[in-house]
Amino acid sequence: MHIRAVGAAFDIILGMEDIVVIGGGASGLACALAACEQALRAGRTPPRILILEATDKIGRPILRSGNGRCNFTNARIAPEAYNHPVHAERVFTALEEAARAAGLPEETPNPVASFFGRFGLVWREESEGRLYPLANKASVVLDILRAALCRFGVRIRLDAAATKVALPRTPESPFTVHLQDGELVRARRVVIAAGGTSNAGGAFGLEDVLPCQEPHPVLGPLATEGRITKPLDNIRVRCTARLARNGEELARERGEVQFRTYGVSGIAVFNLSRAAVPGDVLQLDLAPDLPAGAMEQRRVQLAGALGAALTNAELLQGVLLPRVVEALLKAAQLDGAQAATAQTAAQLERQLHGFALTVRGIGDADLCQVMRGGFALEAFNARTLEAECAPGLHVTGEALDMDAACGGFNLHWAFATGMLAGWHAERALAGQASC
Ligand SMILES: Cc1cc2nc3c(=O)[nH]c(=O)nc-3n(C[C@H](O)[C@H](O)[C@H](O)COP(=O)(O)OP(=O)(O)OC[C@H]3O[C@@H](n4cnc5c(N)ncnc54)[C@H](O)[C@@H]3O)c2cc1C
Repeated sequence: MHIRAVGAAFDIILGMEDIVVIGGGASGLACALAACEQALRAGRTPPRILILEATDKIGRPILRSGNGRCNFTNARIAPEAYNHPVHAERVFTALEEAARAAGLPEETPNPVASFFGRFGLVWREESEGRLYPLANKASVVLDILRAALCRFGVRIRLDAAATKVALPRTPESPFTVHLQDGELVRARRVVIAAGGTSNAGGAFGLEDVLPCQEPHPVLGPLATEGRITKPLDNIRVRCTARLARNGEELARERGEVQFRTYGVSGIAVFNLSRAAVPGDVLQLDLAPDLPAGAMEQRRVQLAGALGAALTNAELLQGVLLPRVVEALLKAAQLDGAQAATAQTAAQLERQLHGFALTVRGIGDADLCQVMRGGFALEAFNARTLEAECAPGLHVTGEALDMDAACGGFNLHWAFATGMLAGWHAERALAGQASC
C-alpha cells in the first residue's frame, strides 16, 4: 500500500489485483468463482481476486430472491423471456459452448445449474421449469458460493462502494477503481457486477466510453385506479390478465392477481409490468374457465332452484367474493338489489371476463425485482462480456441492460454472464485465448 497526494486530499492506493469485481451479488460471486474454477481445472494458481461490496453483507439479493427460496435458474431457459432476446441467445449459446470446450462436467443441459452442481448444490424442479435448491432456502445458494470462494482465497471487502473506474492509460498499465472513502485499487481486469441500482448512482464514470441507459424499475406491481382497487385490498383472484394499448393486446398472463390499495400485484402482474406504460389498460378475466353464456344459464338455473327471480348481486354470489361482487356491480353500473335480467346477466358476464383497470405506472418501486436499463449490450462481446472499446473491462448481470420475466431467468442471466466473464478473465490473465 502507498499514499499519494491528490490535490489537498490523500488517496490510499491498495495493492495490485488480478481481478477486481465490483459487487458481491449473484453475478459478481459467480464470476469470481468461475475464474478460480477455471484456474484449478487448468492446473494454474487462482488469480488474485478482490470483491468490493458496497453494503455490509454479500449476496443480499440472492437471499431475498424467490421469497427466500431462490429460484436460481430455469430448466427451460428461453431467450424470448428477455427484453433483448437476440443478445440473450448469443450469451447463452456462448456459455454452452464455453462449458463444452472446457470439458466441464455437465450434470444437466443448463450450464448454470451444472456450475452450482459442481460445487455441491442439489436442486429440484417446480412448475414451469423453475429450479430451487432442494433445501428450499436461498441461503444454501449463497453458502455454496461463499464457502468455495473462501477455499480459493478470494478476498471480499464489505462497505466498500466503488464510485469510478478509470481505464488504463496504456495497454500495459492497470485499471484504477476509486472507492467512496477515497481509496484506490489497481487491477489488471475489472468486472462491474454492481446490479441494477449501482450505489455509484451512475455508470462509474464510464458514460463517455460505454453507452448506458438510465435504469428504471420493472417486474413489480402496477399502480391503477386506487378508487377501484382500494376496497379490494389483499384479495387474490386466479385470473387471466391482458395488457392492452389502444385496444390492441400486448401481452397476456395467467396466474394469481392480488389487489392492493394502489393497484394490483402478483407474478402475472409483475411480468406484464415489463411491457406496461401509463395509459395502458389491464383487463382481468376473473373467471377464465366460465364458458360464454354461463351467467345467463346461472340466472335461469338458480331462479328455478330458488323458485324466485334473482338479484344482480345474487347472480355473482358463489362465483366471486362479496367485495369483488360489489366492485363488478359498480363497474357495470348496476344495482345489486335489482332483479337480474338477461341483459344484466350479459353485462355482468362482460365485466367478469374484462374487469378493466387503467395503468398509472409502477405501483411500488421497492417491490420491483429488477431494473431495466444499464450498460448497452451492443458494446460488449457476448462470449466474454468484455467491453469492445475497453479490453479488460467486463460488465455482468443486471448492470447490463437486460431483464426477464419471473421464473429464474434474471438470476440465470446474472450467473451466466458472471461465469463467462470469470472464465474469460482468468484465461486472458494466463495468456490463453478464449474459445
Ligand atoms: C425481492 C426479489 C426477488 C427476486 N427473486 C428472483 C428469483 O427468484 N429468481 C430470479 O431469477 N431473479 C430474482 N430476482 C432478481 C435477481 O435477484 C437479480 O436479477 C440478480 O440478483 C441480479 O444479480 P446481479 O449480481 O447483477 O446484481 P445484485 O445481485 O443486485 O448484486 C449487486 C451487488 O453489488 C453491490 N453494489 C452496488 N453498487 C456497488 C458499488 N458501487 N460498489 C460495490 N458494490 C456495489 C450491491 O450491494 C449488491 O450486493 C429477485 C429480485 C428481488 C429484488
